[in-house]
Amino acid sequence: MIVMKFGGTSVESAAAIKRVTAIVRARIERQPVVVVSAMGKTTNKLLAMAAEAVEGKRESALEQLRALREYHIAEAESLLAPEQSQEFATLIHDHFGELGQLISGLAIMGELTPRSIDNISSYGERLSSRIVTLAFRAAGLDAVHADSRRLILTDRRHTQAAPMYPETYARLDAEVAPLARAGKVVVMGGFIGASEDGVTTTLGRGGSDLTAAIVGAGIGAEEIQIWTDVDGMMTADPNSVPEAHRLKVISFSEAAELAYFGAKVLHPATVLPAMEKNIPVLILNSRRPEVPGTRIIREAVPSANPVKSIACKKHITVVNIHSTRMLMAHGFLRRIFEVFDRYETAVDVVSTSEVSVSATIDSTRRLDEIRAELEQFAQVWVEHNRAIVCVVGDNIRYTPGIGARVLSALGPVNLLMISQGGSQWNLSVVVAEVDVLQAVRLLHNEFFRELDPAVFE
Ligand code: ADP
Ligand code: ASP
Ligand code: MG
Repeated sequence: MIVMKFGGTSVESAAAIKRVTAIVRARIERQPVVVVSAMGKTTNKLLAMAAEAVEGKRESALEQLRALREYHIAEAESLLAPEQSQEFATLIHDHFGELGQLISGLAIMGELTPRSIDNISSYGERLSSRIVTLAFRAAGLDAVHADSRRLILTDRRHTQAAPMYPETYARLDAEVAPLARAGKVVVMGGFIGASEDGVTTTLGRGGSDLTAAIVGAGIGAEEIQIWTDVDGMMTADPNSVPEAHRLKVISFSEAAELAYFGAKVLHPATVLPAMEKNIPVLILNSRRPEVPGTRIIREAVPSANPVKSIACKKHITVVNIHSTRMLMAHGFLRRIFEVFDRYETAVDVVSTSEVSVSATIDSTRRLDEIRAELEQFAQVWVEHNRAIVCVVGDNIRYTPGIGARVLSALGPVNLLMISQGGSQWNLSVVVAEVDVLQAVRLLHNEFFRELDPAVFE
């Protein structure tokens, strides 16, 4: 068995879904289980209309909903067989009817809770998974739909729910694996799940990758394939560095680090279930299925290039904390990190001297409270619009001279923080957001002028 996950662009249109059908058909012998994202930008659109509705712009939200309905009908119609038209009409009627009611309800309530965000955003995958199932059947594949909300059990942290692994694995093993073994193509929506009491949850933006990994681990798949719109994991985001090269192979730990530090091609939690069960993850291009993609496996292949890829994460805030009272006093760092911990705010990059600490955070949701507490024992100043740029590779820590090369390559860029990451795979710098593109390009030019053919294409 294999898991094949198709992202938003891979199912954005009738033509894209036809490509997906052909890709799955060509691998039918491997007993695929298919996980799909919402079609195109549907999740963004659903969230945008929810936001309009709570602002009282009910008509405008409903107008957007009508456009979304037309888009789904227009793309799906040409894929279906005549005898499926009634089933499809009911599907559209029911799902968009419910969405209309939700939008109207939000307009009256004027409040958007995390729970209702999850409810609304779940419709993208609920629709796409049903449409892809119909399209597969129309094309002669023996496809069945499985509702992820019955299979992926999560906690109740709406919009960022964490899977409850043992129970989810048990359900997948009992319900999905037997169907796949019997030759059925099971199609599931990514991103969505439900809490124990049956309330719909989501795994966070980009979470369909994680669904694929959970399904793969749950059914004991031999491979997890992430089909997307690029040729694989590249030496930098090809959108900012068009000359980026494909990595043929990369380790789980390197891929996890890259994903965490902004390589959107993979949701950061994806690697964990795969790593635990030692299932290789492949990143492949649904527009160019003949390209071999990137294989993510347990051990890094030895490479003459210590740096494998460069990632960056924007919209970062730096919290600078300074206290001369703390000179020679112990417990300064503990006190600081306790504050971040209490307000459930993750810190990524840290640099310290004896009397000052700089820490980067992603989420500023609780910044005011954090700042107020820190100010009880230190001076605090905050810098917004920063970015983390990091070079990642298994051997960075053990290769002399990487730091010097990073610093000299970044000569023209003002560096705000430097950190040899907490892990051995990463060296990070913090720069102003306006400098991030230049920084990534300079580093790319420094580290990928020569490529080891064992690892890079
Ligand atoms: P999907 O909808 O298939 O899940 P995403 O948009 O989530 O696709 O992820 C694919 C995108 O990730 C690519 O279009 C690319 O711009 C971006 N990306 C960022 N960093 C990298 C990288 N190192 N390698 C490949 N793609 C990357
Ligand atoms: N549709 C969801 C999102 O846009 C999940 C995903 O695509 O992975 O975030
Ligand atoms: Mg994605």
